[in-house]
Amino acid sequence: MSQPDTSHQEIRDAVRALCAEFPDDYHRKVDEQRTYPEAFVDALTKAGWLAAMIPAEYGGSGLGLTEASVIMEEINRSGGNSGACHGQMYNMSTLLRHGSKAQKDLYLPKIASGEWRLQSMGVTEPTTGTDTTKIKTTAVRKGDRYVINGQKVWISRVQHSDWMILLARTTPLAEVKKKTEGMSIFMVDLRQAEKSGLTVRPIPNMVNHETNELFFENLEIPAENLIGEEGQGFKYILDGLNAERTLIAAECIGDGYWFIDRVSRYVKDRVVFGRPIGQNQGVQFPIAESYIEVEAANLMRFKACELFDAKQPCGPQANMAKYLAAKASWEAANACIQFHGGFGFANEYDVERKFRETRLYQVAPISTNLILSYVAEHLLGLPRSF
Ligand SMILES: Cc1cc2nc3c(=O)[nH]c(=O)nc-3n(C[C@H](O)[C@H](O)[C@H](O)COP(=O)(O)OP(=O)(O)OC[C@H]3O[C@@H](n4cnc5c(N)ncnc54)[C@H](O)[C@@H]3O)c2cc1C
Repeated sequence: MSQPDTSHQEIRDAVRALCAEFPDDYHRKVDEQRTYPEAFVDALTKAGWLAAMIPAEYGGSGLGLTEASVIMEEINRSGGNSGACHGQMYNMSTLLRHGSKAQKDLYLPKIASGEWRLQSMGVTEPTTGTDTTKIKTTAVRKGDRYVINGQKVWISRVQHSDWMILLARTTPLAEVKKKTEGMSIFMVDLRQAEKSGLTVRPIPNMVNHETNELFFENLEIPAENLIGEEGQGFKYILDGLNAERTLIAAECIGDGYWFIDRVSRYVKDRVVFGRPIGQNQGVQFPIAESYIEVEAANLMRFKACELFDAKQPCGPQANMAKYLAAKASWEAANACIQFHGGFGFANEYDVERKFRETRLYQVAPISTNLILSYVAEHLLGLPRSF
């Protein structure tokens, strides 16, 4: 067993106790059947864990990103996958920071209680990818409505969400001074939208991750669903992305510890050539190396949390934490599957499932290359490459 992190022990113990009611075979079955872990997400919601960051005045626990990240870490460390529900934790932060009082009063108590799920955020588009400022989805004001047209891709948990935060262009790119201006964010009532201009097409994929293509055809939404000021949406979304990246870093750290625990246990027991395979340094070193990397990533994750909770700029730390943690969990996943030999490929060991799940974080929500280019340009002052 890798050394348990003893910070926030009460939260860890409580989340671990809940997760213990959903053992490996629960997550394995959900994965095999490609269904949504409804009972697990319900239990987390009822226990209030997904409302951790919502202030107490709106019915949440008013905890910081630090505590929220511990919750996500423990879910992944227990063998679960926070990807099914992490949106509920952080999507509301955009609303909390930039929504009007009326919007916060309307949405946050229902999100906190779980009556409404705000699990989805629609940013990525098929023809523009990471080049977000070129998005082509438009929202045009028409009286007291906005009319939405366009397409999104890889939008997760839409089928298990009541609301989605949508990024759309409200002023054409050619008419803005800075390319980051002229985009706005909206609350979209998903069930209503599906009856009046939104088509949802699921994308079967490598992990049991409910994700979709979305097509908007003259979808009308009330103007009051605009969050904050028109044209400032990109800035608002970036705030929320730092929380998302840090929470996902914590999930990767949970995965990393899971892989290290499993493989350490296995290599002590598995005897080949008359001795445990874990006695060979060729086996020990990659496991030890991943442990060092997970521990190091953990420090950056807590640094990002500390800055975010102190309302200090944390973009560099959030990005670096996500980079380090995703890399560390992937190295740990490789060591884990490698030293399980053939058994690593058997579904019943859960290694191949977690291996697939953790691989996603090299690409989403932001690819490793884009983090490297952010660091090169914004922290090191190197010439902008695109
Ligand atoms: C399972 C899943 C769930 C997702 N959920 C959501 C969601 O809920 N909401 C949402 O909005 N999006 C979501 N995404 C989208 C995700 O954020 C994007 O896939 C990711 O940001 C990469 O964008 P892209 O796929 O368009 O890749 P592209 O932008 O096409 O890039 C492809 C690859 O090219 C490389 N690359 C691109 N540009 C550069 C460059 N300038 N320099 C160096 N390398 C470069 C990178 O390595 C990148 O991985 C999800 C994706 C997946 C796979």
